[in-house]
Amino acid sequence: MIDLHSHTWFSDGKLAPLSLVERAHKLNIRHLAITDHDSVGAHHALREHPLPEGLELIPGVEISCRWENLEIHVLGLLINIDEPVFVDLLDAQQQRRRDRAAAFDLAMQRAGICGLKSHLQSLPCEAVGRIHMADFLIKEGHARHTQHAFSKYLGSRGRFYQKSEWCSLAEAVDAIHAAGGLALMAHPERYSMSRPKFRRLLDEFAAANGDGLEVSYSNLNIDSLKYLADECVRRNLWASVGSDFHSTDHHWMDLGRIRRLPPACEERAIWHHPRWAQVASPVTHAPARM
Ligand code: AMP
Ligand code: MN
Ligand code: MN
Ligand code: MN
Repeated sequence: MIDLHSHTWFSDGKLAPLSLVERAHKLNIRHLAITDHDSVGAHHALREHPLPEGLELIPGVEISCRWENLEIHVLGLLINIDEPVFVDLLDAQQQRRRDRAAAFDLAMQRAGICGLKSHLQSLPCEAVGRIHMADFLIKEGHARHTQHAFSKYLGSRGRFYQKSEWCSLAEAVDAIHAAGGLALMAHPERYSMSRPKFRRLLDEFAAANGDGLEVSYSNLNIDSLKYLADECVRRNLWASVGSDFHSTDHHWMDLGRIRRLPPACEERAIWHHPRWAQVASPVTHAPARM
């Protein structure tokens, strides 16, 4: 199996890189991309370790971008993680995350909630995010669960909400290309917008030289899968698949738990892109479980 979207504790995943890789191996994944938010720390950490036999790690990242009033996530796959232009962009994104966390901390302190900063400093992560803040609010008894923390405090209508200053789509695509990688829009149907606005987003992403879409991912219904496959083929984009695994808490988002690409876009699968053959071995196994 193949899974090209997953997170470790270098961003908002719960597992250490080695534990993630071991879980992937146990679940029979042969090609795994770790795509932490604005961080490739897990890839650096894993360089020191031999991987389980038969598992191949694809270098990846998930970059947060601002488009109009929305946050759009762009996956970079098959990247050279040491490329300076790319490293500079991740450094800037991580600084934006620290600045935003400081603003959240201030807003919480004004409301009498103290300790966010030291909570964040105690974590192994490199890219601090709102999931970590949600964990803090739950630990301190201010929220019952993650969704509650977002709706009450952290989401765009939440009490402590701070706008994020992310890079643009074009900046993310350019940095990924500078690192030799392919840029794909992550989970395209998770951004709440109308279909006309979504098509405009796709137009702009393609105009910014985006390479493809994550066509199949966790919890996607068949109609959406077909819609995304059609958009992908119609625009001559490449197609990717990924669970967006963060932790073992949600079995429906487990590694490899993704539908196969529809026949219409099988030929456009990213593992048929010429760049794949430069960095990774051929995909000869069944590409997905469902
Ligand atoms: P950040 O990149 O730090 O702004 O955090 C965004 C992440 O928070 C997303 O990738 C989602 O995983 C998660 N998230 C965003 N909105 C919600 C929500 N309403 N409920 C739960 N998780 C959310
Ligand atoms: Mn996440
Ligand atoms: Mn995402
Ligand atoms: Mn993700």
